[in-house]
Amino acid sequence: MIPTVLSDAVLAGLDPEQRTVVTAPAGPVCILAGAGTGKTRAITHRIAYRTLTGEISPRHVLAVTFTARAAAEMRARLGALGATGVQARTFHAAALRQVRYFASRLLEGRSMPELIESKVRMVGLAAAKAGLRADRTGARDLAGEIEWAKSSLVEPGEYVVAATKAHREPPHDPAKVAEVFAAYETLKRRQGVIDFEDMLRAAVWGIEEHPDVGEEIRAQYRHFVVDEYQDVNPLQQRLLDAWLGGRNDLTVVGDASQTIYSFTGATASYLIDFPRQRRDAVVIRLVRDYRSTPQVVGLANAVIRQARGNEARLRLELVGQRPPGAEPELKIFPDEAGEAAAVARRCRELIAGGTPASEIAVLFRINAQSEVYEEALAEAEVPYLVRGAERFFERPEVRQAMIALRAAVRSTPGETPLVQAVVEGLAATGWSREQPPPGGAAREQWEALAALVTLAEEYAKAPAFEPIGQAGAVQRDVTLTAFNDELARRADQQHAPTVAGVTLASLHSAKGLEWDAVFLVGLADGTLPTTYAKTPEQLEEERRLLYVGVTRAREWLWLSYGQTRSGSGRARRPCRFLPQLERHSPTERAGADRSRKPDRKRSQVSSCRICGAALLGGADRKMGRCPTCPSDLDQDLLDRFTAWRAETAAGLKVPAYVVFTDATLVAMAERRPANPAELLAIAGIGPRKLGQYGAAVFALVGGAAPAEASSKNFEN
Ligand code: ATP
Ligand code: MG
Repeated sequence: MIPTVLSDAVLAGLDPEQRTVVTAPAGPVCILAGAGTGKTRAITHRIAYRTLTGEISPRHVLAVTFTARAAAEMRARLGALGATGVQARTFHAAALRQVRYFASRLLEGRSMPELIESKVRMVGLAAAKAGLRADRTGARDLAGEIEWAKSSLVEPGEYVVAATKAHREPPHDPAKVAEVFAAYETLKRRQGVIDFEDMLRAAVWGIEEHPDVGEEIRAQYRHFVVDEYQDVNPLQQRLLDAWLGGRNDLTVVGDASQTIYSFTGATASYLIDFPRQRRDAVVIRLVRDYRSTPQVVGLANAVIRQARGNEARLRLELVGQRPPGAEPELKIFPDEAGEAAAVARRCRELIAGGTPASEIAVLFRINAQSEVYEEALAEAEVPYLVRGAERFFERPEVRQAMIALRAAVRSTPGETPLVQAVVEGLAATGWSREQPPPGGAAREQWEALAALVTLAEEYAKAPAFEPIGQAGAVQRDVTLTAFNDELARRADQQHAPTVAGVTLASLHSAKGLEWDAVFLVGLADGTLPTTYAKTPEQLEEERRLLYVGVTRAREWLWLSYGQTRSGSGRARRPCRFLPQLERHSPTERAGADRSRKPDRKRSQVSSCRICGAALLGGADRKMGRCPTCPSDLDQDLLDRFTAWRAETAAGLKVPAYVVFTDATLVAMAERRPANPAELLAIAGIGPRKLGQYGAAVFALVGGAAPAEASSKNFEN
């Protein structure tokens, strides 16, 4: 075979190990490598190389992965390399195509049963048959359990034993779940419909039981590639085996340290055991990390070095290949709202500095965490999109809760404290503050409504919400009606159509993706790892989630958490998987010093005047800001700001902080905002503050004396 110029180009830009992958002869090939080492790049180049040299025909290749986005990405990369005509699909899409194609032959003329996209409705009916009352959320959790069983090749009769062995935590007694599972299967059969797992089974059955079908499919597909192979479940593996039919032209790539879907039935054991199962396999390990700066790579290594269990056996130390960048540091904020505001402001700065919004991501553990970031980004006018989940105010449970809260206005006595009114209003939807459900969809729904209560707590006490009355006196309107209006305002803001923006995503939906700048937020114990992770296996999966998150960043990584959810309650500890940062946590210090100075230490922790994060190092404290936060304070301007604020506050008969906090004054003196956009970029400043004091601030920045600026208060 004579390599062409095109195929030479495919080899360029690969390191020696990646080239070994690309040029390995037909047969089993296994790449076991860490994040960002070019696994996906190596397999797309392997496919392109083999087709461009004429070794194989593109139409005989089937490349499979797990999400439609990843499949589209693979097709795009193959297209860019000049390899067109290759099938790159998800397991589901590939199976569906084959089943459709052969349906008439397999079903002897009968039409193909309808494929149901979601199990939830029918599982609800099955639950009722089994004597269980399951609402939509309960049905969703049962459906998740049935999906796990079917993906794991577990039949209803085997469920109880299998679930116990796998340490499942089913939403009901396992025997009851098995009963629902059996009823669901019967119902489905009776109605003549199939679900996704049935469809994969139908593909297996078609190939294995119908020699003509099997022959035709195997003649069509001769070379197989699987990306993210650590995510394969037993049912998908069964289909892969059926496709192969004993042949061995299979390339698999994966990273056991990124196994984060075990709860759905995925298992890294097929990847880990591949070299043992196929003794003739070419096994390649990649350690050069091309994605991230050495600083990010260093943290990723430190996180995964502590990992235990089967998935950790094959991990390798990554070696960063990119030029050095900023050292990731853990920023600790008093509460989540402060954390989110600082994140939003930094997003604005990054965008102003030339980073496209589409190259920035904010990643969190559970979808309910997105609301506070949606709000902060909307307030800072940073465009964003939510990946893999509905926007907070579009969720059915949140919409329902808002309707319930509106309805509650009439039945709530006027003097009821707001938080109590909200908690009682939500009780009408069946929500109970004292009884969070154990996990799954029900838990997520509960968290979403709990987020509304947190909002109410903030609303009830935050000076930022206080409207200044005509006469200048502060009128605090914290009634349920005012809060409902506030929720409606937030919902409106978030419904604004989005253009390309900052990605908000859960860690789960970020796998395989990369951004220039990544914010990992809510890194507090209890959130990551979630309190529901109890067994060593579950905790290890949480650690791997952090590893996935850290390794998404190309150049710039931010780590943070809020010590409390809304400013009160016990301070949370930092995520336990951040090994080298653990020593610096203020909570740890407070704990260590407890015998001598109880609690004083904690209140003495000073915070960054730019972003508000707790400052842990002595030098940082002296400087008054994080080393990574930019600063050039204009002292004269700060003095004039301070004098103007005193005058304004005295005139309004309010404490100075109601006008602006010290931190805001300092931030303004550093950044000298000259227009509304620049002023809004500063934490703690929203449209209302802009309207009240914008003209005065711009005058001060322009050199005006405090008294002159005061005359411009409320000018807009
Ligand atoms: P993940 O485990 O997150 O899926 P991966 O191992 O699949 O990561 P890729 O997405 O293929 O990694 O590559 C990570 C980044 O490094 C990409 O931007 C890719 O283009 C780049 N890259 C990979 N190999 C090289 C190389 N030899 N030279 C330069 N850049 C490379
Ligand atoms: Mg990849």
